[in-house]
Amino acid sequence: MSSLKIPKPDELIKIQYRPPKTAWQDTPVEFRPGTWSYAGAAKNLTALGLPNPRAWQPADLDWKLPPDWREIILEGMKERLEKYRSFRLFMDLCVRCGACADKCHFYIGTGDPKNMPVLRAELLRSVYRRYFTESGKRFGRLVGARDLTVDVLKEWFYYFYQCTECRRCSVFCPYGIDQAEITMMGRELLDLVGCNINWVVEPAANCFRTGNHLGIQPGGIKDMLEFLADDIEDRTGVRVDIPLNRKGAEILFVAPSGDYFADPGTYTCMGYLMLFHEIGLDYTMSTYASEGGNFGLFHSHEMVKRLNAKIYAEAKRLGVKWIIGGECGHMWRVVNQYMDTMNGPADFLEMPVSPITGTRFENARATKMVHIAEFTADLIGNGKLRLDPRRNDHLRVTFHDSCNPARAMGILEEPRHIIRSACNVFREMAEDTIREKTLCCGAGAGLGNEENFEMRMRGGMPRAMAVRDVVEKFGVNRLACMCAIDRVTLTSLMEYWVPQVSVMGVHELLANALVMKGEKERTTDLRGDPLSL
Ligand code: SF4
Ligand code: SF4
Repeated sequence: MSSLKIPKPDELIKIQYRPPKTAWQDTPVEFRPGTWSYAGAAKNLTALGLPNPRAWQPADLDWKLPPDWREIILEGMKERLEKYRSFRLFMDLCVRCGACADKCHFYIGTGDPKNMPVLRAELLRSVYRRYFTESGKRFGRLVGARDLTVDVLKEWFYYFYQCTECRRCSVFCPYGIDQAEITMMGRELLDLVGCNINWVVEPAANCFRTGNHLGIQPGGIKDMLEFLADDIEDRTGVRVDIPLNRKGAEILFVAPSGDYFADPGTYTCMGYLMLFHEIGLDYTMSTYASEGGNFGLFHSHEMVKRLNAKIYAEAKRLGVKWIIGGECGHMWRVVNQYMDTMNGPADFLEMPVSPITGTRFENARATKMVHIAEFTADLIGNGKLRLDPRRNDHLRVTFHDSCNPARAMGILEEPRHIIRSACNVFREMAEDTIREKTLCCGAGAGLGNEENFEMRMRGGMPRAMAVRDVVEKFGVNRLACMCAIDRVTLTSLMEYWVPQVSVMGVHELLANALVMKGEKERTTDLRGDPLSL
């Protein structure tokens, strides 16, 4: 947990929903410790070939901007308005109905009006009006237009790095205005003058260097996976093989690297390995495409494309037929929403067909990439797995729909099917906090760093309160989810708000219940906790 002094939960929850005395245009940003993220380090900007690498921090008075920074940004805005029709629409459209205003977890957790999605968009729209509309050029503030100043730039930085691009607000907007796309544009424009955060550019730079966000070398990946195989053998008596970089395998499996290296994701990874062993899948993992996540999504469209390409390049090099992807959030938003037009279609791969059940995954026709929850739910639906849900009887489980698989892909029922098959006690959180209305963990989109800890706890508070509700009603003690970032950020969130609840991946729950051929009598779950059989 952060060494920064942050308020205790009972203080933090006293949120003032009173707007400031000054109008929003006249209320400057205050970079209060605990509420912003460190600037991108020069070495990472240099590694990625990004503009204006330098030593600076957002709380500095002087951001060391290039002399022509305003022209650079306005030119960038012009280009994007011409290139992306959705951006132009989102700048012109909004009837101020207010339906989105109280839907953002950062507004709920801070009471800051500029965290209302409608006003967050206005930060950019006001500048658009001033420079790109006749009325704005003529009438200025009267029509909601304003000059692009250094203070405005700082405001953009503060609030576009206080949006997790979760898209919850867009579910409620009658016009379908997607604030996440506006935030992406805001971040792209900031990046043109070298303003970004290290928790985004460092994982992206590591990915370029070693293939994964954590910067782990191939030998480190192999060692870690062998270590997990040892743990599996210890718990189950079964030794699993871990194929790496194997040419000619039928399937390439790509997981988020957080699952190899960070608890509790490691248990989810053990779950993948046990499942694939049990069904005898002809697959391989790769030390080059050793990352499913795509931090490009939190930086720019160009970076999304650059990072996504490596998975497909590796699938081609290894000669696989198709790809399975693990429990990750942003990997799936990229694959489902952007891959086909950015790097696709992946015509050199085959239509995914399960070698175990014969199911054709028609939804993956263009991307040739199947979500592991779909793959596993299909195995269960066809009776291909032996599961003993009593092995999870020490757990009372609820499920957090991770924003990207839920809202961007509509993967809502598959994880529930797996959970219901693998455990006896499953309780849903309130209806307006799950499925497509799910509440964000408060720390996705690169905001899951320690220096931003107070804002994370504020942003995650609505999700934590929904968990607390099922703890009080049903005695829930475990929060399952389907995203590597969530497994880390929800763990901190639970420690802060609901300490009696711990976090797990769906395939950890499955693996606890999975009856494997040749296994010894199981006395513990994957974490080594005793079973209550
Ligand atoms: S996308 Fe999510 S974080 Fe961003 S404004 Fe909408 S609800 Fe808030
Ligand atoms: S819901 Fe949509 S139209 Fe209504 S204020 Fe929000 S962004 Fe504008």
